[in-house]
Amino acid sequence: MTSEIYLDGNATSPVLPAAIDAAVHAMRICYGNPSSSHTAGLQARALLDSARARAQRVIGAGNGRVMFNSGATEGIQTAVLSALCALRARRDAGEAIGALLVYGATEHKAVPQSLAHWNTVLGLNLELAALPVDGDGLHDLAALRRLAPRAAMVCTMAANNETGVLSDIAGIEAVLNDTACAAYWMVDCVQALGKFRLQLAKSRIDYAPFSGHKLYAPKGIGLLYVRAGAPFTPLIVGGGQESALRSGTENMAGIAALDAVLAALEQGGVFRTHDQLCDFRDRLAASLRQALPGIVFNAPLDHVLPTTLNFSVPGLTSRELMDVFDAAGVRVSSGSACSSTKAAPSYVLEAMGIPAWRSASAIRMSFGPLTDDATITQACARIERCGAILCAGGPCVDSDAAAPSVLQLGSGAECSWLVLDGASGGCVVIDPRPEHEERITAQAGGCRVLAVLATQAGASPEPWRALARRLGAPVTDTDSHGWPQGQDALVLGGQRLQRANCGGGRQAYLLGANTGGALSRAAVHHAFIGHAAPQQLAAFVHDDTLLCAARDEHQPVCSSLRATRQQPGDTGNGMHLDSTALRALLALHPNALVVDVRDSGEHAASGIGAPHAGPEGRTVLNVPLNRLTSQIGAWLQSGAPLVFCCRSGARSAKAAACLRRLGHPQAYDLAGGMALTMWPQLPHAA
Ligand code: PLP
Repeated sequence: MTSEIYLDGNATSPVLPAAIDAAVHAMRICYGNPSSSHTAGLQARALLDSARARAQRVIGAGNGRVMFNSGATEGIQTAVLSALCALRARRDAGEAIGALLVYGATEHKAVPQSLAHWNTVLGLNLELAALPVDGDGLHDLAALRRLAPRAAMVCTMAANNETGVLSDIAGIEAVLNDTACAAYWMVDCVQALGKFRLQLAKSRIDYAPFSGHKLYAPKGIGLLYVRAGAPFTPLIVGGGQESALRSGTENMAGIAALDAVLAALEQGGVFRTHDQLCDFRDRLAASLRQALPGIVFNAPLDHVLPTTLNFSVPGLTSRELMDVFDAAGVRVSSGSACSSTKAAPSYVLEAMGIPAWRSASAIRMSFGPLTDDATITQACARIERCGAILCAGGPCVDSDAAAPSVLQLGSGAECSWLVLDGASGGCVVIDPRPEHEERITAQAGGCRVLAVLATQAGASPEPWRALARRLGAPVTDTDSHGWPQGQDALVLGGQRLQRANCGGGRQAYLLGANTGGALSRAAVHHAFIGHAAPQQLAAFVHDDTLLCAARDEHQPVCSSLRATRQQPGDTGNGMHLDSTALRALLALHPNALVVDVRDSGEHAASGIGAPHAGPEGRTVLNVPLNRLTSQIGAWLQSGAPLVFCCRSGARSAKAAACLRRLGHPQAYDLAGGMALTMWPQLPHAA
């Protein structure tokens, strides 16, 4: 039993139980090849014909053609290829065909990519023209009116996958008719199926692709509608299946499953009604508003799919929001699923003119029409819990800590460093990167900022000074590194920060316990070295001083002189534990520490911080990856085995590799993260 709440229905859906049964039946019993003329083949053919007839009814295909294929990306290719082949033939015959391939600026990437690809392959050399959308995500019909007379093909979508915005298909059709536009018209209906009634043959739409996995059928099965009389060129030729429109032995298990979903749609009573879905959406929106003050919905709720919410929260990135939701067992996505692993802002929100901060914070919450009342109730409770955790998260200074907290912003690339002392409320910012400014302000905002320092003498000191001014740090009487004139050291509670001249205008900053005088090499536990080579610090630090660089992609997190002497690759043996190895390690080492390196919000939302909630009844510590350097010294000294964990295994692998490089012989991570390594059921609060 999983306590996952899946709110990413626009990315894909689970499979309807009746569809699973139908697929199993097609594989076990009705497994014939529909092209065979014996009884098994005839049975499969009957299944195929009946599925096609049902699909035609459900989408209102009239006398148009419906072919089964692998999904919408293939359907889009086929539609584009068909239209462009026809255009080329007409042009070759001397006909005027228009010069533009017009596509909605918020289309799924498969559309502009297919247009560009086939335009090149077929040597058409038409111009691709993005049809702008307004701030609500609706196509600019005035712009379409201007483009339509020169359009050879027009591609629009029925509903947007990121925002749920419903296109004004009737309005688009009216413009195409009014302008006597002869263009072929494709409407991507992927997100529309099952959400509202389709009557395709009643419109002038030439092509409409569909995808099974967006509506409780398996991945790898889809449909393409082609209007009667619209040109067609097969994308795949061979054995002549699907009346030679799409060759290849049919995916009968997928077709049977999709048929079961379409049967449920046709018969009614299985999927929620539009009003029920609107009620679910309104309840989720109310919980989000209550949980996340300042939330902004990125498309007006009255003209989006009732199953999609796209929102942003001031001061929080998509990643931060998604991580906390995921830790609470609520699966949502940032932007679209295809782009959520990339840092690039959403092109859909950009096309709508949404400000950059909202694009960087956007979350899509979407559910399918099979969702039930209890799931929505549970989702609302978890949203409210996530909100409480996110609102509680502020500067992560531990006021009881004896040593200051060292915080790294940005891992695996350019880093900014903060030294925060909870006891005195003092803080120093080192090498701040502009992209981290908001987070620096959030962390250092409540502190007394003693200095904003650069390790490289200011080629451009102004950004530093501007940030220092905003943070209330001294800006006059500072040198070109931002160091207060006339001071030998900055004192942060019981710690002292002092300079080390690395030559060439480079300065490093050394941190150690304050015993009154200058720090000895042995006393330096952290050195902030900017872009200096570790060896340049040899005169100032000891072998195990943690070297915190301005860029850490090669030595993630931090390094040391000892670590730089390691041969690359001689630290990773046996580092990744599977569940059996994890159990064995914990049984052998009662002193082993299990450390969750996710952010504190994710840790809190996951519920694994409760005593003994970890593997083998261990209590899991939380040391977010960006605060790892605060703890490393103590861990190296104790030598107790360390098992790092996080969701996917990426952050914990970095932590374990870092500890090993620094000389800890027993640092491990969970192979594939908590998502894959067996872990006792995580206790999500309701
Ligand atoms: N069009 C839209 C609107 C989509 O949401 C998707 C899937 O994300 C696609 C096309 C591509 O569909 P498929 O995954 O079936 O290739």
